[in-house]
Amino acid sequence: MILPKAPALTEAQFAEVLEILSEFDCSATPIAGETRTIYAIRGDERHELMINRIEGLPYIDRVDTMQSPYKLMDIQSELAKNKIRINNRILGQDLLIVAGHCTIDPRNPELFIETAHAIKEAGAHVLRGGVWKPRTSPHSYQGDAKALETLLRAREATGLPVNAEVMDEDQLQMAVESGADMLQIGTRNALNYSLLRKIGELTADKNTLVLLKRSMHMGPISEFICAAEYIVAGGNANVLMCPRGTAPGPEGFRNNPDESITPLIKQRTWAPVVVDPSHSVGKADYVPHAALAAIAYGADGLCIECHTNPPKGIGDDPKQAIRPEVLRRLIKDAEVIYEMKKEFQGYLPTAAHH
Ligand code: PEP
Ligand code: MN
Repeated sequence: MILPKAPALTEAQFAEVLEILSEFDCSATPIAGETRTIYAIRGDERHELMINRIEGLPYIDRVDTMQSPYKLMDIQSELAKNKIRINNRILGQDLLIVAGHCTIDPRNPELFIETAHAIKEAGAHVLRGGVWKPRTSPHSYQGDAKALETLLRAREATGLPVNAEVMDEDQLQMAVESGADMLQIGTRNALNYSLLRKIGELTADKNTLVLLKRSMHMGPISEFICAAEYIVAGGNANVLMCPRGTAPGPEGFRNNPDESITPLIKQRTWAPVVVDPSHSVGKADYVPHAALAAIAYGADGLCIECHTNPPKGIGDDPKQAIRPEVLRRLIKDAEVIYEMKKEFQGYLPTAAHH
């Protein structure tokens, strides 16, 4: 990782750096942070001569060569100084609530607009709505690009930033062009490395946040963090880590709740953790319990399925969407626990870096 003295390298300086790197079969990707751009080295960055030559350039502060499979995501990385913001919320300081339909019904767009207003009233900060849906059965409703218009209309009507999942590069392209504020990589694509890198590249010069769900097939935590590393290596460091339950779940739950990995993630990386209790427990009655537990574990936010009339919803909404009045109370309770937790941050030995 190359750290310039100024907030960013000029074009000519970057070209000179690339020239040196190429002699050692390396390259670099700029990653724009809040206060300065860093340059992630691609290739083996341990060549001593290469490091010496780059550090010898008058406009370079230093070269960090961290031996970690996730050197950009690592809590010791320069990127730990970044602040991720959306809707005037600063992740890590302000609790972030993402809420909305699992799936936008293109035949009933007004229902989504109604929910959008209701979740804003309830105190949520980002509106979620599924446009394209990853469904286990190919015979289930798969989503519809038309729903993207509804999502954007709801943003216009409420002023809330919006989040949608993308599953392939065409959808990604469309969502980026639409100016969606947050993009979601779902549990099924959590290990789709080319898509992860691509989303980082296509959103590199934008303020788009990427909500990365954890693979439901529970690999080690390092696998989850390395997946996020691909997004950052592509050029976007606005990554949020989202545990959402792993398969199989105990009888009665859709998945095995995994909000308890929150402190593990936070000890190893700087990335905020936004837990999804809806897909974890999979039943509206249990969602508030799992949500509050996530905050007690130290989560920075929640992503919750919410619908003004769940029986009329499609996708997961009839089963697991909570109603806006439940969301309102849940946000209030979550805020109380969130504030209490701030006093206990000293529990994590590395929390000072955060
Ligand atoms: C969703 O958010 O509706 C969704 C399909 O999520 P996941 O990828 O966690 O299943
Ligand atoms: Mn869903």
